[in-house]
Amino acid sequence: MDIVDYLVNEKNLPDEDLLKLIQTDSFDEKLYLSGDSIRRKIYGNSVYIRGLVEFTNYCKNNCYYCGIRCSNTKAIRYRMTTEEILSACDRGHQMGFRTFVLQGGEDPYFTDDRICQIVSEIKAKYPDCAVTLSIGEKSKESYKAYFDAGADRYLLRHESASDEHYKKLHPDDMVLANRKRCLFDLKEIGYQVGAGFMVGSPFQTAEDIVRDLRFLQELDPDMIGIGPFISHKETVFSDYENGSLELTLRLIAILRLMFPHALIPATTALGTIHPLGREYGLKAGANVMMPNLSPKEVREKYLLYDNKICVNEDSSECGDCTRRRVSSVGYQVVTDIGNVKRNIETY
Ligand code: SAH
Repeated sequence: MDIVDYLVNEKNLPDEDLLKLIQTDSFDEKLYLSGDSIRRKIYGNSVYIRGLVEFTNYCKNNCYYCGIRCSNTKAIRYRMTTEEILSACDRGHQMGFRTFVLQGGEDPYFTDDRICQIVSEIKAKYPDCAVTLSIGEKSKESYKAYFDAGADRYLLRHESASDEHYKKLHPDDMVLANRKRCLFDLKEIGYQVGAGFMVGSPFQTAEDIVRDLRFLQELDPDMIGIGPFISHKETVFSDYENGSLELTLRLIAILRLMFPHALIPATTALGTIHPLGREYGLKAGANVMMPNLSPKEVREKYLLYDNKICVNEDSSECGDCTRRRVSSVGYQVVTDIGNVKRNIETY
């Protein structure tokens, strides 16, 4: 039996075989087809859409890779008001979105009370929708308060499960242990939790990626977000190479085979390094798209990396464009809250 069959059956592989799959540079049709076949067994041809509202680009952190890091004085900072956030959700709801993702830098202006207020207003207006937060590392008490206010899901990429590599991506005041603590707290509170990492971030080795996969097995998240690292000119890593399309696609397929139930997005970063990156991502096993619902005026300011796509479009265009792209590769956008489906046999 070859290693792809073994991975399909066992949902696991020894480290040395994972390394082989990660390091090969051949185009592995079988791996992608297997990823697609497993996703169809669980999710059919449905693609869940999440409306992304990038509500603040203020950030107190200084991650070396990120364009909205606090020391980027060239970034033009903005915050959306509660009314603006709600009207982005209104537009999204009309377009069929049933999940809203509030993402931002770690912005102290948004105190727990303010976040709880926003979450509860969205939930009151749209009880049929899920609210996902993606606002970084907080205390367990804060996470609990957001959950009690109605937040359903939380995205917090672990970024790297190797202490050494994590340190090369972040300043000393950020530690992997706290990021992990956050993820386990979120799970314990009852959130659907998402973790993940950038592919091809500076200094990342194939062994680091295996550690990422092992950490994901330990956490067993509901969502797994990966996308290529893309350099930003005003960061420490401005001169580093971008992550590769091929490796990102291979990892999407590997993730689908290891975590058959997972909600895996075809990310904006993937669509940025290749015009059809997201379509290829869907074909390799991704089942989620996260179009932007932020108003046009702020889009060009939420720049985590250079050349980000869709910054000149309106949210109505993003809805149509997503539907077209998804159906062009044989899947279908559904109007659905899009919860994780665990416990469906894939054999
Ligand atoms: N402040 C939130 C949201 C971060 S932005 C948090 O800490 O979770 C969301 C994700 O974008 C990050 O987790 C990171 O993995 C990714 N990202 C940041 N800079 C990037 C870059 N230069 N290239 C690709 N992805 C990047």
